[in-house]
Amino acid sequence: MTAHGWGLDVPNEIVHELAAATSVGAVGHVGPDGDALGSILGLTLAARAAGKQAYATFGEPFTLTENFDYLDRSTLVAPGEFPEGLDVVVACDTAARSRLGSVADRAETAKRLIVVDHHRSNGGFGDLEWIDPEAAATAQMIFHLLRRLEWPIDRPAATALYTGIITDTGRFQYSSTTPEVHHIAAELLAAGVRQDLVAEKLFEEAPFGYYRVVSNVMGRAVLEAEIGLVWSVLYHADLEEAGIRYEDTDGLIDLVRIAREAGVACLLKERDSGLIKGSLRSRGRIDVAAIAAIFGGGGHHNAAGFTFAGTVDEAMAKVRAALS
Ligand code: 5GP
Ligand code: MN
Repeated sequence: MTAHGWGLDVPNEIVHELAAATSVGAVGHVGPDGDALGSILGLTLAARAAGKQAYATFGEPFTLTENFDYLDRSTLVAPGEFPEGLDVVVACDTAARSRLGSVADRAETAKRLIVVDHHRSNGGFGDLEWIDPEAAATAQMIFHLLRRLEWPIDRPAATALYTGIITDTGRFQYSSTTPEVHHIAAELLAAGVRQDLVAEKLFEEAPFGYYRVVSNVMGRAVLEAEIGLVWSVLYHADLEEAGIRYEDTDGLIDLVRIAREAGVACLLKERDSGLIKGSLRSRGRIDVAAIAAIFGGGGHHNAAGFTFAGTVDEAMAKVRAALS
């Protein structure tokens, strides 16, 4: 086992701050994915089981897809109810302060703000930081942290952490899936995770309206083979027509990126705010975090995102320019 030897690399100061805290908060990035949500719930459920006051939240819009309904959200509070002045708040899976959205100010009222994240682009925005780009998921780091703290990881907490790991590893398929990741998954299963139910809820279920959205988005996909790019757009009208929510469209990029001819995939999603949310995926040769950075976004080498105030044509011109 490498430096990731069962939590040996967890900074001692972070362990000590959390052990000494009476009240613990955890905040994730806006539009939380399985890793952000699993990390803040895993940490706070374990904190509560260890006798702490514990609160989790994420910035507005404070909505979640029903796919996450199986998670124990009893520590989750709306951003407006997240207490000020907590002993410790941990920002999980959040690459930059701005990604906290509307909870950034409140999170900073904590006596200690700790950043735990696996995004290489994270420049740090807390009093203490633990940033490990080698980690497959922030939830993997939270697991190590909890083991060091000796806080109980019961079935609800284990289910939350498992959710972070299974989503950020693409169901254990990405190169980040080390033997250690499987060891942790085994421990979480031993703690009672029903992985069959988790997988069914996460990956085998969508509202019927999603079929129409998939049809529209896949139908308008464009292949630009000369630059190895495949891309498409999700319009706000697609969601209205299908009667589904933006939160239900996280899996679309996994369909758009399938084209064999493309090394990079891009999905632009029109938000009702008029802004465009871009998702980028790479097969490995091209660093899409660098492309996202051109827009002020970020992420990982193979998966990154950004928000853009402009048109679809303008956004695609920038992506094309970066690729050629
Ligand atoms: P997704 O495309 O699934 O929304 O995000 C892919 C990856 O890029 C995730 O690791 C996510 O945290 C990151 N990401 C997505 N949008 C942004 C953004 O606007 N800014 C930054 N810094 N990272 C983002
Ligand atoms: Mn993550």
